[in-house]
Amino acid sequence: MAAKKKGGSSGAKKPSASAKAQKSSKTRACDLYKIEGETFERILKICPRCGPGTFMADHGERLACGKCGYTEWKQKQ
Ligand SMILES: [Zn+2]
Repeated sequence: MAAKKKGGSSGAKKPSASAKAQKSSKTRACDLYKIEGETFERILKICPRCGPGTFMADHGERLACGKCGYTEWKQKQ
């Protein structure tokens, strides 16, 4: 009796995980400004690199510019 061994041909399948990091951050003008009565207060800070027109995103403890990547930590007082 000839016992045939099945050759373990390892067909290793590589998981093609293509992580697509989609950044869809829609920024509306109404989100950038907070209007209290007659005072017109700006919530978000302007990026010092990009200049006026480019607002920095609020990430809680830090502000980050989505355009140039400038990050500024909030100072706790
Ligand atoms: Zn910037």
